[in-house]
Amino acid sequence: MSNWIERDQQSIMSTYGRLPIVIERGEGNYLFDESGKKYLDLFTGLAVNILGHSHPAIIKALTEQGTSFLHISNVFYNKPAITLAERLINHSIKGKVFFTNSGAEATEAALKLVHKWSKEQREDRSGVVVLKKSFHGRTLGALKLTRQPGVYQDFPVTDIPVFEVEPHDTQALEDVFRTHKPAAIIVEPVLGSGGIVPLEESYLQEIEKLCRSYGVLCCMDEIQTGVGRTGEFFAYQHAGIEPDVILFAKGVGGGLPLGGIIVAERFSHLFKPGDHGTTFAPSPLSAALGNAVIDVLINEGQLVKGAEMAAQLFSKIDSLKQKYPERIVGVRGKGMMLGIVMNAEASVVKSIQQQLLDKGIMVDVTQQTIIRLLPPLTMKSKEVDFLIDTLEEQIHIMQKVGE
Ligand SMILES: *Cc1c(COP(=O)(O)O)cnc(C)c1O
Repeated sequence: MSNWIERDQQSIMSTYGRLPIVIERGEGNYLFDESGKKYLDLFTGLAVNILGHSHPAIIKALTEQGTSFLHISNVFYNKPAITLAERLINHSIKGKVFFTNSGAEATEAALKLVHKWSKEQREDRSGVVVLKKSFHGRTLGALKLTRQPGVYQDFPVTDIPVFEVEPHDTQALEDVFRTHKPAAIIVEPVLGSGGIVPLEESYLQEIEKLCRSYGVLCCMDEIQTGVGRTGEFFAYQHAGIEPDVILFAKGVGGGLPLGGIIVAERFSHLFKPGDHGTTFAPSPLSAALGNAVIDVLINEGQLVKGAEMAAQLFSKIDSLKQKYPERIVGVRGKGMMLGIVMNAEASVVKSIQQQLLDKGIMVDVTQQTIIRLLPPLTMKSKEVDFLIDTLEEQIHIMQKVGE
C-alpha cells in the first residue's frame, strides 16, 4: 500500500470510499498515478473537469490571473467575475447572478431567495417541491432537498416544508401545487447521483407550465448538467423552457471551486445588501478559468464537438446493450453524462469498476449497479473505442463466471 494511502487514513476523516490510487499528474483526458500508470479519466473529478486536465486555455488563464491577483473580496469590483456573469446570462436567461464557492452553497442561495420571495408574496406560500432521489447538496439546508436516504439520515433539517414527488408524475405534481401552495420547485434536468435519469423534455415543459399557472418559482439545478455537459449550455435548454432560477457549479470554474445562481430579472431585486454573502466567491481566479471554459466551449466549438462525440459514445454503448441484453439492461443519460445499468450484484459492478481501473479506465458507480460516465467534452473517438472494447472484455469475463 502506498505510504500516501496510510497517511490519508491517519489524517483525513473517512467520509469517502476512495479508489486505491494516488494521483501524480493530469494531462489531457488522462491522469497518471505515482507509478506513472496512465488512466483515461471518464470521471472528471465528478463532472468538474469538462475540458480534461491542463487544457492550454486553462493554463493560460491560471497564469495570467494567478500572477495578477488571487483574491480581493466583494468590497471591490471584480472584472473576471463581471465578464463571467454577463456570459452566463447570455447563455441562459435575462437576469442577474449571485456567485458561491460550491454547489451546496448555490442551493442554499436559492433557498434563501425562495424564502425572501415567499415572504414578499401576500398569500401564504412556502416550501419547495423536489423529485424522489434528487441530490442538491449536503449542507443542512440543501440536505432537506436531497432525497437519498443514505445522505440525509441522522441530521436535523430546516423547517422549510419539502414535498417529494415521483419524477414524470405530472398529476402528483399538480396535486402538490394545488393543495400545498409551495413557493418553488427545484429539479435536476438529469438526475445525477440519483442514477443518471434524464427527465423527459415534455415533463420539463409540463413543470414550467404548472409553475406558471400556480405561481411557483421554477428552479433548475444545473450543477452537474450545466456548462455543456449534456450537449446544450444548460440541460433545460433541450426542452426549450425558461426557468426562473438556475443553479450552477462543478464545471463552471474550470477545475476551481465556483458556483452560484442565475436569477430572472423580475426576481433579482430579492437579494439586497446584507441578505447574503460570502468572503471568497467569486474568486477572480475561478472566474478567469470560467471565462476560459466558455471561450473553449463556444469560440472553439468544443460544446458541439463534445455533443457529437457523446452521440457516438451513446450509440456504441447502446450496441453493446443490444449484444448483451442480459448483462446491460439500460443505457441512459444526455451528452457526456451517461449511466450504464448493469444486471449484476453490486459487488460484481464494483469489481468491473476495479477491472476497468486496472486496464487504465476510470469510471464511477452510482446507485450500486449503474456505471456512471462523466467524460470530458474533449473525449476522442479512439478513447470511446478503448472503453467499449474493455467493457466488452469485462462482460465476456462475467459470462464465463456466470456459466
Ligand atoms: C454535486 C451536486 C451538488 C452539490 O455540489 P457541491 O459542490 O458538492 O456542494 C448539488 N446538486 C447537484 C445536481 C450536484 O450534482
